[in-house]
Amino acid sequence: MHILELKNVNLTYYSKTTETNALKDVDFFVDEGEFIAIVGPSGCGKTTLLSLVSGILKPTSGRIFLNGKEVTGVNEDVGYMLQHDHLFEWRNIRQNIRLGLEIQKKLTPENSDRIDDLIEKYGLKEFAKSFPHQLSGGMRQRAALIRTLATNPSVLLLDEPFGALDFQTRLNVCDDVYSIIKKEQKTALLVTHDINEAISMADRIIILSKRPATVKNIHVTNLGTYSSPLSRRESPDFSKQFEKIWKELNDNETQTRVIDQSAPIP
Ligand code: ADP
Repeated sequence: MHILELKNVNLTYYSKTTETNALKDVDFFVDEGEFIAIVGPSGCGKTTLLSLVSGILKPTSGRIFLNGKEVTGVNEDVGYMLQHDHLFEWRNIRQNIRLGLEIQKKLTPENSDRIDDLIEKYGLKEFAKSFPHQLSGGMRQRAALIRTLATNPSVLLLDEPFGALDFQTRLNVCDDVYSIIKKEQKTALLVTHDINEAISMADRIIILSKRPATVKNIHVTNLGTYSSPLSRRESPDFSKQFEKIWKELNDNETQTRVIDQSAPIP
């Protein structure tokens, strides 16, 4: 059984006057422990896709299965990590990390111990009583990831989680987040506009077309023998893969231009 399965998923946003087709016949699966990246042109429907998996949005048609059960509403089996860490400045790091379980009313002594173990295991113990503004950008993202893991979701949804960081920090945080996700044996779905980031982290990369997004291709990276995203970037295959994916994404733009050229001149 696949941990996550999308079957012919369509999503149209309706307003009083407009309708926007965001996703069209999106069909793919994710296996347990896989790291999947989703790339596609800006505005094609990547965030929409994650919102559907989390149950925040319902498909207009099609079905989504998580752990064999159909997603019919917001479910606690997924954890969301965003570009901005959304740590509450008035809560210390430990209190921030405990928040999800507090909201879910699941802060049992066992869960509390599990959180303290995670805090210790991933080097946040010395910051447990610090407030978010006292941490570096990289440490804040690590705290945000541990907060996401605290509720023990089976699938992590990462929406441009490194987008707000400068390039050097981004490379290190990418390694950090990757190693924690692998150690915790979580399944991850990463939305990124950065092809390098996708190749350096993912087992498979789902390439989406321009809106309405369809699955254009699924690319297997086969870089599992490299231990970290940084070392993957050193692989001889890395730039070949970059070129291939870049071309596929760029084909999209060629298509757009052709369509634009054939449109009537106003
Ligand atoms: P991406 O994450 O790939 O940049 P999004 O999933 O955010 O794209 O958006 C896909 C398309 O759906 C865009 O054209 C966007 O303007 C539109 N869209 C997103 N959210 C809404 C909404 N709540 N109502 C109407 N249209 C939306």
